[in-house]
Amino acid sequence: MNGSDTGEQLVKNEETALATAEPTSNGSAVLELRDVSCAYEATRPAVEDISFSVQQGEILCLLGPSGCGKTTILRAIAGFERVTTGTITLSGRLVSSRDTLVPTEQRHIGMVFQEYALFPHLRVDKNIAFGLNHLSRPQQRAIVGDLLALTGLRGLEHRYPHELSGGQQQRVALARALALRPVLLLLDEPFSNLDPDMASRMRQDLHALLRQTKTTAILVTHDHDEAFSMADHVAVLNRGRLEQFDTPEAIYHLPTTPFVADFVGQADFVSGVVDNHVVTTELGDFPNTQKLATGTKVVVMIRPDDIHIVPTKGANARIVARQFKGSENVYTIRLASGQIVHSSESSLSIYQAGTAIALRVVATHTVLFPQSPESPAEPESHDGNASIP
Ligand code: ADP
Ligand code: MG
Repeated sequence: MNGSDTGEQLVKNEETALATAEPTSNGSAVLELRDVSCAYEATRPAVEDISFSVQQGEILCLLGPSGCGKTTILRAIAGFERVTTGTITLSGRLVSSRDTLVPTEQRHIGMVFQEYALFPHLRVDKNIAFGLNHLSRPQQRAIVGDLLALTGLRGLEHRYPHELSGGQQQRVALARALALRPVLLLLDEPFSNLDPDMASRMRQDLHALLRQTKTTAILVTHDHDEAFSMADHVAVLNRGRLEQFDTPEAIYHLPTTPFVADFVGQADFVSGVVDNHVVTTELGDFPNTQKLATGTKVVVMIRPDDIHIVPTKGANARIVARQFKGSENVYTIRLASGQIVHSSESSLSIYQAGTAIALRVVATHTVLFPQSPESPAEPESHDGNASIP
């Protein structure tokens, strides 16, 4: 699927756009990980049983909280880390297994990290041309010229790294990685040292640049907005394991675990019980999309954009607080049972705390998680805001 047309497709044909991605498919996979585990300590794997593939020209985002194993996976792909189980195949060639470690320099991988690692004593053009010594001077000049234009660095080619802004240094690092025409470009949180405005601009520029150069890339981030805006596919990681591999739209609307639901956006989880074709909850009935047996206890995931406030005298839900976010107001609401849910309303809809309200829930997709004793539907706490009954 092409990232630039997914939004349109979602409107036209939700079913197709939200079709669950195959975690591993063949086709023209540039990279394939199969059951990969890596360990820094013999007894405890840092990442475990990771399988996914990346197709030619695709952008994959590895998304997850700090310490979940994103960098470890990149390092294994680059050949800096051995795998303890599983295999990594690059352009059809086995490069990593328990007994195989093809050296980094034979993998034709480009890398850009959070710290740009430019050569401080070399001008911009020389930094970009650094790996091109095997080419003639005119060939080098042509490549550097193209990349200066593509990365918006024209006019800065004679500056030294310390004479550039953070965003410009990051562009040089990108240009230097792309100059070698890597089969795969790895980017580890490349925008985390930039201020939010610059990071947002760099994201757009990087996306355009990767598309223009048809570069296959893996971008590591802990920021779901960044993953959604950049990726064709997102791999969500938690504690060294792959929780879900899917399109950004499916990750947001059809999360398969409570952790993913919570990590990629604000979510509330409302208890319910299956009664034949519906799930009955305090917020009304939802379709029994998973055809669970009558009597099964579930939680229904609801996003703030699915809940609408209807001021109603005598209603027994109450506004608790309003958080103004510029383009929207996010309301904290207490239901009659005491359960807290959230509603995002337009920036101009202002209700005072204590106002009695009814709620209208318009969820395009009903996401249910069965509640079972061995798998409590409680994601671990992090910067998301889920509230679980
Ligand atoms: P992320 O990039 O998602 O923040 P990492 O891949 O850096 O996560 O780390 C995954 C896990 O491996 C963490 O528990 C981390 O503490 C551990 N780890 C990372 N690097 C090393 C190392 N060099 N030695 C020992 N443990 C490490
Ligand atoms: Mg990391």
